[in-house]
Amino acid sequence: MAGGRMRGKAAVVTGAASGIGRATARLFAAEGAELVLTDVDGDGLEALREELAGKGAEVRTVVGDVSVPEDAREMITAAVEGFGRIDTLVANAGIIPLRTVLETTPEDWDRVMSIDGRGMFLTCKYAIEEMLRADGGGSIVCLSSISGVAGQPAQAAYGPAKFVATGLTKHLAVEWAAKGIRINAVAPGTIRTERVRQLVREEGGPEYLETMEKLHPMGRIGEPEEVAAAILFLASDEASFITGAVLPVDGGYLAR
Ligand code: NAD
Repeated sequence: MAGGRMRGKAAVVTGAASGIGRATARLFAAEGAELVLTDVDGDGLEALREELAGKGAEVRTVVGDVSVPEDAREMITAAVEGFGRIDTLVANAGIIPLRTVLETTPEDWDRVMSIDGRGMFLTCKYAIEEMLRADGGGSIVCLSSISGVAGQPAQAAYGPAKFVATGLTKHLAVEWAAKGIRINAVAPGTIRTERVRQLVREEGGPEYLETMEKLHPMGRIGEPEEVAAAILFLASDEASFITGAVLPVDGGYLAR
């Protein structure tokens, strides 16, 4: 394993089977973390576990849905039972529906709020409970988005769900700062993950991507590894005096 910025730290990454979660799991493993990787996609999770274990990483997996309280709790207790504690949570699992308010049904709204909103709330809640029990502090990184900071077209439910991520980060950061638990967020621009690659096959997807590329001042979309690097920084002790921050990883999108 290359670096040691997460050595001695037990970390839970939700939504680890693809995209930003998988890139984060790979980087954390390379930096020496003990990992609990979770996702609804059991096959993807197992493939990643084999890959990382083959490189000598300590990896456990939990197949489950972050929006279900029992599953969310199991994701956190797996770290406590397997490694004796949880030092870090990356609350990453989420779905990204792109629809206008006219296209969004009440069921669409409930689904994205349940996974992206309630799922993040639940995993943060149970992680903080365990961090407090151990009384050794900890750090949480939530996945917000440029859509959790500024308005976008065709994100009538997803965008508000990402504002929940931003809000949860700031409120929990203030709530638990005195106990040594830091809670930060990253706000990625458009990132080339499985979900974004899929867009190319959806109606209006290619046009959406072309527009988004132009809107990022760097003239390109980002790579999952570029977000993982920012997550690592916020999760690690290098960010020891940073809490409640929402760090754009967006090629300058929010700076316009
Ligand atoms: P992705 O679809 O590639 O990966 C998301 C992972 O979460 C998948 O493996 C999926 O199976 C898992 N997942 C979905 N629902 C789940 C549930 N209920 N319980 C557990 N796991 C579940 O997506 P991504 O692009 O890597 O997005 C990851 C996070 O980053 C999301 O929170 C997303 O909102 C955020 N984000 C992504 C972008 C982007 O452009 N890709 C931009 C900003 C923010």
